[in-house]
Amino acid sequence: MLNLDLRSMSAMTGMINIALGIILLAFRRAYPASIKGLLPWALAPLLCALSTAFYAMDGQWPAVLVALGGNALLLSGCALFYFGSQRFYGVPCTWKCWLALGIGCLAGITWFLLVHPDYRIRVLLLTTVLAAICLTHARMTWQHGRGFAPRFMAVVLAFQGLVLMMRAATTLFQDAVNTPRFSPSAIQTTYIAAYCFASLFVCLGLLLTVSERLRAEFEYLAQRDDLTGVLNRRAVLHAGSSELKNRRGNGQPLSLLLMDIDHFKRINDQHGHLVGDRVLAHFAQTVGRALRYTDYLGRFGGEEFVVLLPHTGMEAALAMAERVRQAVEQQSAIAGQPACTASLGLASIEAGEATLDELLARADSALYRAKADGRNRVEAG
Ligand code: GH3
Ligand code: MG
Ligand code: MG
Repeated sequence: MLNLDLRSMSAMTGMINIALGIILLAFRRAYPASIKGLLPWALAPLLCALSTAFYAMDGQWPAVLVALGGNALLLSGCALFYFGSQRFYGVPCTWKCWLALGIGCLAGITWFLLVHPDYRIRVLLLTTVLAAICLTHARMTWQHGRGFAPRFMAVVLAFQGLVLMMRAATTLFQDAVNTPRFSPSAIQTTYIAAYCFASLFVCLGLLLTVSERLRAEFEYLAQRDDLTGVLNRRAVLHAGSSELKNRRGNGQPLSLLLMDIDHFKRINDQHGHLVGDRVLAHFAQTVGRALRYTDYLGRFGGEEFVVLLPHTGMEAALAMAERVRQAVEQQSAIAGQPACTASLGLASIEAGEATLDELLARADSALYRAKADGRNRVEAG
């Protein structure tokens, strides 16, 4: 066994926690408010560091102050890590039951310190509650996180939970009623070393998780049209190219709809640009609701939209286009907005090859015909 000095290891963990708390606070300032949970995550290692400072005063400060202060801070720190994850993943916060458990644990520790002194029961109480927090946190992170970083965090938390359970199980056999906190037993060394590494790894996992969420948010925003929330031109063209590539592999038909709101300029002129914007957003919502989960809706520019219908031949696409046209006609009357209709041009590939530009050109000429033939209608190219 390495001859590790437990007090120094504990102090080192405290310093690592302070650094991580400061880094997480800096993240909180720099990152958008849409990323939740950063404040509890930043406060958690700081509380853990403060608990280490209390434990370092063992023998110098009154025992009850060290035990209650240190343990209360450690429990709060671990719970705050968990609450931060709950906020991050949008899971309802369960602080009330953990608060009750924490208070019960501290009351027990006080009893077994002042009334019936027993170091083993105090360790058992503290490590059992800490293990429960770590294991519940690990389970939630595993269930809600996607990708490497949350999985890594969940494994570290689960490992820490197991070390805590081991510490709880062995204290009754290994420790004495009055063993000092930093007595160098193998299990106490493992416990403090695991705590040191877990603090570091969990915080690294958090930083990676937050960066990944930020990247995903930027990617989402880069693909979306600001006003309507549907795909922007670049993203829908990219989806079109991918679907054409898929089609070459699976031989399935593919259809494309071009839609243009009728006399939209009139709506702008009569009701103003802001109302025009609202009509556009509502139009996109209505069309989106009429489509299937696998279809793509994008804003092509101005009041022109494009829909990709994978695995859909001409006949089914015509029925879908007609459904969209009717939905627009009916919805705009209900929503208390200026009524609007749309003209739709459809192009499909069922056999043979076509490029995206050819498909768009065919849909565009069909749209032109729909406009020329009186608007509020579907034409196929
Ligand atoms: P048509 O039936 O032939 O399509 O007639 P139209 O009036 O819809 O066609 P036109 O292309 O003449 O007018 C499109 C209008 O859409 C002109 C432009 O000011 C307006 N528009 C484009 N983008 C926006 C936008 O983001 N918000 C608003 N409010 N209006 C927009
Ligand atoms: Mg237009
Ligand atoms: Mg128009």
